[in-house]
Amino acid sequence: MNLMSEPSWSVLNPHSFYSRARRIRVEAEYAFWHQLRPVADVESDEDWTTLTTLLHKDTGLSKVPLTRNFDALDTLDQLPRLKALIQETFLLDLHHVSIIDSAVKTAPAALLHDDFFWASLDEDLMTRFTPSRPQQLLPGRRAITDTVINTIRSVEELAAPARPSPWGDPAPPPEPAAGPAPCEDPAATMRALPPADDDAARVASLFTEPQPDGTICFTLTVDQATGTLISDVVAQAAHTRGTGQARAMADLLLEPATIQVNSLLYSAHDVDDAPVFHPTTGLLTEETAATLREMVTRTLDMDDAQQAETPAHDMPFRIRCCVIGRDWVCRWPGCNAKATHLDGDHRINHEDGGPTRADNMVMLCRHHHNRKTDVQATYLLDPVTGDVYWHFQDGTYAVDLATGPLAPRERRWVQTFAQRKAKAREYAHRKAVAERFDAYRAHHEEREHPPPF
Ligand SMILES: [Zn+2]
Repeated sequence: MNLMSEPSWSVLNPHSFYSRARRIRVEAEYAFWHQLRPVADVESDEDWTTLTTLLHKDTGLSKVPLTRNFDALDTLDQLPRLKALIQETFLLDLHHVSIIDSAVKTAPAALLHDDFFWASLDEDLMTRFTPSRPQQLLPGRRAITDTVINTIRSVEELAAPARPSPWGDPAPPPEPAAGPAPCEDPAATMRALPPADDDAARVASLFTEPQPDGTICFTLTVDQATGTLISDVVAQAAHTRGTGQARAMADLLLEPATIQVNSLLYSAHDVDDAPVFHPTTGLLTEETAATLREMVTRTLDMDDAQQAETPAHDMPFRIRCCVIGRDWVCRWPGCNAKATHLDGDHRINHEDGGPTRADNMVMLCRHHHNRKTDVQATYLLDPVTGDVYWHFQDGTYAVDLATGPLAPRERRWVQTFAQRKAKAREYAHRKAVAERFDAYRAHHEEREHPPPF
């Protein structure tokens, strides 16, 4: 039977009653929203209000879901390959498309008018939504969002303002060397919060808003480097003290305390322009990566860690870093819990002789760790790819692909990233030259054919 050998998505399983019902729902959902979709562009807010009010009267839907789904359809129109895939298979429902749309909205405005960005995004989403295993589980919200953010980072040069150089055009940057990226070197930074400097103050803001229920809401905005460190400190404190994150943050502010925290950075050491990943922030901006790299106090070779083994039950730090870097989130189907403070589960139990080694360890959140211990589902771990094959009580199975930067498939994207970055730079440069030429020609023609008055 093809189902068991060809790569496929578990949500498109033609032998599953639920998958067939899902397809009918998704197909009808798109048909419905296409019917509702405004024919002409609605420019002014007043027209939009009129339209959504009329639609509300006839459908009961409020302005928020109407706007969200129309925006999602607009974004899908910019992604022809993904759109064709959806029209053919109904792999993604409108909720998935609106996750993509929300992530796209975080891009600099200049990118949204750039064909190169949309083509790159279409390509990366097609890679993400092409299965490589039979019965593959659909990527979760986090993996989808990360895919879009990573594309944005790989082409963000296009959003930089063109700077004409009075000294002529600089040589294009050298093409990064092609080849495999076998090594990653996460580094641990152990430090307290950095002092605020002038640059940070420029982008930072804090709003304090008393709420009607007597609570107070704080909205803190800081640069990515500071924010990454704060979230690491707060998550670490919450984990150590066994409190929620909000409680931990309040305690840290109110009691003078020194806390040491590990911030993990993952980056290939043998690729020029290699992107730097953080387990909760994701792919860092170049600026943040540079700031955090300066704080690095320890570098670990993840290829060594991949082979490392200990007789102890608990993973030592470097093996843990290796498994976090591969798994990124709890590996239970559909769970998006970030891996940094989760338990490592022995695929073959330690007391049954299972080694404490990366290829026998999987990150699971406490909730799902208990499910697994109760034998509600069992799994096999592919030691090379990091794929996890889940076997369920009803005899079915599904495959979860690792999404961390150390997973072999994601390592390949690091090459794409480096090459795309070089291409985006060259493209932005050519565009700037063309714009200057057009400006020159316009000026020149104006002088040759002066307006009559
Ligand atoms: Zn979980």
